[in-house]
Amino acid sequence: MEQPQPHVLILPFPAQGHIKPMLCLAQLLCNAGIHVTFINSHHNHSRLIHSIQALSCYFPTLHFESISDGLSEDDPRSLPSFPDLVSSIKSVTKHLFRELLVSLNRGSGPRPPVTCVIADGIMSFSIDVAAEFGTRVIIFRTFSACCLWIYLCVPKLIAEGQLPFGADDDLEREIEGVPGMEGILRRRDLPHACRSKQIDDPLLQFFVNETLAMTRASSIILNTFEELEAPFLSQIARLVPNIYTIGPLHALTKSRNRISISPTSSLDASLIKEDRSCMTWLDSQPLRSVLYVSFGSLFVLTRLQLLEFWHGLVNSGQRFLWVLRPDMMSRDENARDVIPSDVTLGTQEKWCIVGWAPQEEVLAHPAVGGFLTHSGWNSTLESIVAGVPLICWPQLSDQMVNSRWVSEIWRIGLDMKDTCDRSTVEKMVRVLMEEKRAEIMKSVDQFAGLARDSISQFGSSNKSLQKLIEDLKIL
Ligand code: UDP
Repeated sequence: MEQPQPHVLILPFPAQGHIKPMLCLAQLLCNAGIHVTFINSHHNHSRLIHSIQALSCYFPTLHFESISDGLSEDDPRSLPSFPDLVSSIKSVTKHLFRELLVSLNRGSGPRPPVTCVIADGIMSFSIDVAAEFGTRVIIFRTFSACCLWIYLCVPKLIAEGQLPFGADDDLEREIEGVPGMEGILRRRDLPHACRSKQIDDPLLQFFVNETLAMTRASSIILNTFEELEAPFLSQIARLVPNIYTIGPLHALTKSRNRISISPTSSLDASLIKEDRSCMTWLDSQPLRSVLYVSFGSLFVLTRLQLLEFWHGLVNSGQRFLWVLRPDMMSRDENARDVIPSDVTLGTQEKWCIVGWAPQEEVLAHPAVGGFLTHSGWNSTLESIVAGVPLICWPQLSDQMVNSRWVSEIWRIGLDMKDTCDRSTVEKMVRVLMEEKRAEIMKSVDQFAGLARDSISQFGSSNKSLQKLIEDLKIL
């Protein structure tokens, strides 16, 4: 009997850091001849329309659909509205996802019926919906494996009385009982929701429940590579035996796309329009002299934090390129207006500010010598691949543990967690760019090499991708 053609439905959480790696995976599957339908929220679909048109041209088996995320069109969908987004997705998107699956399974048009759903690790409702149709689900977790392992251990930490901390909020105290993290993990390195005094904190419950739901899926995909996170992969494999580690996905995708794509093409699917003027500015800067500063797509800064960073950066005397998104502060304030005009005088040749940068290109630019980041997982992987050392200022979720591993285990940067006063910023920048640069660069170069090896023909991530493709083809 002839095998049905594989058709994978990909459902990301509707945020930049989730869409990007899942869209990379979509491209890799299309390159292997698999039909892929990629689902965006209506809101993001309209923002990505240029990328969608370009991608549809390059990949004939890549299709796009959009469904509502349940929020009104004028909702900013920034970090403060994350809980609303989560609950509206649960109540609205779940039903729409079911309807879409029914309609795609009728098999009309160029696409065969859906043979597998690849869903975001925080969209676990898809496991139940797909089960109604007997469709297999693979969960794609866009966070680091080390953070995934911590979330899996949170119920045990609660049972042992290590969480919540209660009145004793000594954040330096070591956390025991997370296998593989002995002697390293402190309270302050746990996902931020763990700092809540309530066990039933909605955000903590959300992440823990979504993580536990993942163990009901047949397999999981992680955007990481074995050589980076092996100890946690083996721990996680005891709960979900079938893990595909196919990261760093952005690099694997670029190495596999047979078409030649110009750097200015819109295949990277940015929800915010890039300002490429910073590339011209970088061209005029000395080798490895610029600190790139970006806190990702969601982060919101207070006025005080912005000013501390500004003074710390200027006082460090280093050149810097800073991404200040238009929605980076509360709605009625524009970050650029907060920067003091007297300080900006005379120093302007040393810095450049944009609303959104082509980050991968920036990190690959020879003038860039460091990255001050919020430690989002995509940013961390992009920096590792580019061989750029990090200063981490994490705020949420996996960022808290990513930064600890960056500084203490991988030794590819510094962790500035929980403080951003101007003197600390100044000191950290000097240490990274000058004092400890040579020492840190040894590890950075080593991990950049390991990342490259993992996506090479016989590398671990490439092999894992091939296995995923084979498995999807015989479903
Ligand atoms: N990014 C970008 N331009 C910017 C800032 C960020 O293209 O000016 C991209 C970056 O390359 C990364 C993503 O946005 O792929 C951010 O993902 P990450 O997981 O680091 O953080 P999040 O936005 O999810 O907090």
